[in-house]
Amino acid sequence: MKELTDQVAVVTGGSRGLGRAMALRLSAGGAKVAITYRDREEEARKVQEEIEGQGGQALLLQGDVANDDTARRWAEEVVEAFGRLDIWVNNAGIRRDQLLLRMKREDWEEVLRINLTGVFLGCQAALRPMIRQRSGRIINISSVAGLVGNEGQGNYSAAKAGIVGLTRSLAKEVASRGVTANVVAPGFIETDMTATLPLAVREAGEKAIPLGRFGKPEEVAEAVAFLASPLAAYITGHILVVDGGLSAASF
Ligand code: NAP
Repeated sequence: MKELTDQVAVVTGGSRGLGRAMALRLSAGGAKVAITYRDREEEARKVQEEIEGQGGQALLLQGDVANDDTARRWAEEVVEAFGRLDIWVNNAGIRRDQLLLRMKREDWEEVLRINLTGVFLGCQAALRPMIRQRSGRIINISSVAGLVGNEGQGNYSAAKAGIVGLTRSLAKEVASRGVTANVVAPGFIETDMTATLPLAVREAGEKAIPLGRFGKPEEVAEAVAFLASPLAAYITGHILVVDGGLSAASF
């Protein structure tokens, strides 16, 4: 039997990049998966078809993670469709990079709204059914930028550091209800988000990574699948760094 058989998972931002790889991996582990997206319906539909093509079940959910009722609606739709909710991955995120001195307030606020408030709302929505079930796994996607900072990413790093504080507090609040909450902190991973990095930043990044290359989305998806699996039953409030050694090299 696969390790996630009969489990139901939600992956926010599952239409592309890391979220797509996580959705495919959780499905390969036996979970039914709901994929959320904001704009790119066609890409989300392709992920749904890939999952169905490998014999899995997938549900598509549209909306902005940071709108008040979106995540709650998603959770209700998932429970209605699949009968339960076991795993919730808060993965959706954006970047609006700029040096702090030049950063516009709207770029500060938009990144905090989506990358931190969106995670807060996702956690709240996931908790309702999980607490009723007395079991659940919440996995929040931060970044090494949230641990060690990054030039030009003051807004992004603040939001990603906020995810760490939020998750560790949540882990303490809900452990007695059978719910775990953990963070995965990727380094540089090959996705649309890093495809637009200036060449100099990319080359400097590669040079700074002890393993000498950007990671693949599938390598982050394995960390998520582990934290969602029975093997991680005794792990909560943890930060699992998946960065080829990048943050270790920063200290
Ligand atoms: P990506 O390729 O840009 O994909 C972002 C995903 O988030 C898309 O599915 C997008 O939906 C969704 N999304 C964005 N804003 C949203 C909103 N307001 N409401 C709902 N969905 C929204 O990003 P990625 O590289 O896979 O990154 C995924 C996560 O990993 C992010 O939290 C990112 O910060 C984090 N991370 C990435 C890296 C990296 O190197 N790539 C490193 C560390 C951390 P649409 O497709 O509909 O636009």
